[in-house]
Order: sequence, then structure tokens, then C-alpha cells
Amino acid sequence: MVINDGPKEACGVFGIFGHQEAAKLTYFGLYALQHRGQESCGIVSADGYRVYEYKSMGLVPDVFTEDHLEGLRGHLAIGHVRYSTCGSSLLINAGPFTVRHGGMTISVGHNGNLINAHLLRRQLEEDGSIFQASIDTEIILHLIAKNMRLGFEEAVIRALKQVKGAYSLVMSTEDTLVAARDPRGFRPLCLGQLNGAWVVASETCALDLVEAKYVRDVEPGEILFINGKGLRSIKPWEGERPKSAFCIFEYIYFARPDSSIFGHNVYRIRKRQGAALAKEFPLDCDIVMPFPDSGNYAALGYTAARGLPLEMGMIRNHYVGRTFIQPSQSMRDFGVRVKLNPVRELLAGQRVVAIEDSVVRGTTAKARIKAIRQAGAREVHLLVSCPPLRYPCYYGIDFSSSGELIAADHDLSYIAQHIGLDSLGYLSLDGLIEATRTEKEWFCLACFNGDYPEAPIEGISKHCLE
Ligand code: SF4
Repeated sequence: MVINDGPKEACGVFGIFGHQEAAKLTYFGLYALQHRGQESCGIVSADGYRVYEYKSMGLVPDVFTEDHLEGLRGHLAIGHVRYSTCGSSLLINAGPFTVRHGGMTISVGHNGNLINAHLLRRQLEEDGSIFQASIDTEIILHLIAKNMRLGFEEAVIRALKQVKGAYSLVMSTEDTLVAARDPRGFRPLCLGQLNGAWVVASETCALDLVEAKYVRDVEPGEILFINGKGLRSIKPWEGERPKSAFCIFEYIYFARPDSSIFGHNVYRIRKRQGAALAKEFPLDCDIVMPFPDSGNYAALGYTAARGLPLEMGMIRNHYVGRTFIQPSQSMRDFGVRVKLNPVRELLAGQRVVAIEDSVVRGTTAKARIKAIRQAGAREVHLLVSCPPLRYPCYYGIDFSSSGELIAADHDLSYIAQHIGLDSLGYLSLDGLIEATRTEKEWFCLACFNGDYPEAPIEGISKHCLE
């Protein structure tokens, strides 16, 4: 049973060039990025001549042993943690994805989804390509292989010019590390340095863990080639680059609060979202509590703005994994309680405001509100630190159909009643933008307003390549 019906993470990528312990550092980098994907993980390393690879289903600390890391030799490595947003959760689809072509071994780890993957794959198959997996990442490798007569760098540029949608990539050969970000920059990707070695990662929290110094973000539409000759930056879209479309949901939910992405620290932005909620919903109440951990930072911002104390009305069990055995019908609520348990002595007789970062299907929120009521709360209000999620995401977040979103075809009063609330408030889009202290034009806001920066192509879906 999946315990949380919140939005699911996308993927995380890490790469390093020029360090004796490249694979071990990649292991730690992936550890820091585990929140972005928990289904499978893998590392590919290289020593200038040979490529070494290990990947498996499961979490980073469960998958890799000392022996695996010893076997991953070389000064260059890339790593990937996956949550499936295109293709099923199978080992064949785990990253990094590796092919051998023309005497070269090319591996790719990809965060984001391509919106023209199904069209490109159909075309490639008509031209004779044979695919092993059901992920869009494999298409990038086929497109590179088709252009290899022009040399590796030009082949990468040509391949990336053909794909549409979201990608933050790390790529490796026997002797080169490549990092690339799509021209709109949907997903984050940063560049750092560690004792002369170059490091790239989905989020700065991975740089922090390996003690690399943040240098800058990989720019939207930038491709970095890093090898023995140094670092080369190529910007193939220069002069024709579309407007940026940073995923605002990274700020709300995905990125770790200790990371800085798109130029700002995530913790601070989430606190500002809470402060914006306080301005929009100054509710009369006795207790303000977050749904931990997702609502923690917005709740801190809300209480600080209103001069109220923050209470932890539910306590999280940190030892619960993502899934567990399905409880029988009579034990249905165990699913929620095993993860979060209300503090009865705190909540009994009180008017409670609970704060959460987002509501997807509403089933988890419903069960949690029920638990708060059973603990004796007199009133329960829910404040959500983003607007209602009404439209599916095609760029690598796993709510790819509107059927998964309660706000897609239900109004607020229905949702409040369905969840069992006295009142429900969502942060306005303007409030959300203001909290980011960035221009509205910079962001993708499509899951809130349906305004897709790259129009979804008919036929695209999570399982369209299967
Ligand atoms: Fe992010 Fe939403 Fe845009 Fe998807 S649709 S990229 S989740 S802002």
C-alpha cells in the first residue's frame, strides 16, 4: 500500500569528473538526492578506457555495498535515482541507461520527461532502431548514435535539438562527463567544484554532502562537456532560446529545503509561502500545526507571520518505509497512523489549523483530518501552501492525468466536505509567485493554470512507450 498520495518525485542526477573516488562521491551524492526517487538507483564510472556499471531496484544504501563501490573504478562517474514518470518501475528502465555504439560506451541519467518521446520512438523504430526499455531516456541515446559520424559533441547537440520537454541530464563516455539542461530549464541542475574536480547535481544539497563548492547553475539550454581538456560550455539555442519555465513545484514540494535552486533557498521560499497564507487566511484558532514534514516550513512561516506558536499536533514515525502490507478493511486507518499519529492531549477540544504543502487526490488529507477529529479537535481547518492542482504535468512529475487530481473537477466546497473540514484555503497564485520573489514569467505554472510552456503532444502519457 502506498502511504502517501502526494505528488511523486521525479528523478535525481549526479556526476563528477576528475576525482580518484568518483564512484564513492556519487554514492553520497545520490544519498542526498534520494528524496527525488526511491524506486531504483545506479552508478556508472569510467577510468578513461573502461566503463563500470552497477544498478538495481531499491534505495541507495540498500543497493550499494563497499564491494560494488570498489568495483566502480575511475575518476569519472554519473549516478541516478529514479521514480518512474515515463515507463514502468522495472530494472530494465533503471538509470543510468547505457549503450555501446561505434566502440564507445555512452550512459545517461535523466530527470524530466520528453513530450515528443512517442513520436520520436515511432520514427526511430520505422527506421530500424530496436529499443530495450520503455523510457524516454533511451531515445536520446538512439538520436546520438544516429549522428555519431559528426563526432560525439555534435551528435549530442543534434540529439538534444530534436527532443522536446524537460531534461536535466548527466551523461558519460569512457573519458567525458556531459551535463545538459533543456532550453526552458524545467528541472534544476547545478555545477560545483571539489579540489579541482567538477561536480554536477540536481540540487545543491548533494554538493553540500560531498563538500563541493557551488559554482553556478547549469543554464537553461547549456551543455557542458568536461574531460581531460577541461570544461567546455556550449549553448546551441543562443539567440533562439525560448522563455524559461522553471518548475515552481520544485519550490513547493520536490526540492530539499536545504537546497538552493533557481537562485533561491527552498526553505526560505516555503516559509514565505506560509507568510503569504497568513496574509490571505488569518483564521481564528487555538493551534497551528503542520502535516510533517511536508507542511513544516509553510507552517513556520504562517505562525511567525501571525505571532503564534507552532505546535506539532501529529508525530511522524521516521522508520516507516514507502510501502507496507495492505491492512485489512477493518484496519484501514492504520495506513495513516503508522506514519503520523495525532497528539491527543494537544488537540482535544481545540480549534486546529493544519498546514500542508499540496493536495493531490485528497485521500491522505482526508485520513489525517479524520485522525485529528478522533483525537477530539473541536474544529479542523486546512491551509494549503499552493493553489489547487487542476492540470496534469507532462514534464516529469507523476500526476500525468487530471483523473488523479481532486481539484481538476471539484470545487473547494466539495473538497472541503469530502476531506471532512470546517474550512479549506489554498494559497493564491499571486501569493505563491510573490513568495518566490521572482518574476511570474520565469516559471512553469501549468498544473495550476493549464498554461503549458510546451504544448503536450497527443498520445503522451506515463506508459506511452510500453
Ligand atoms: Fe512543475 Fe507543475 Fe509545470 Fe509540472 S506542470 S513542470 S509540476 S509547475
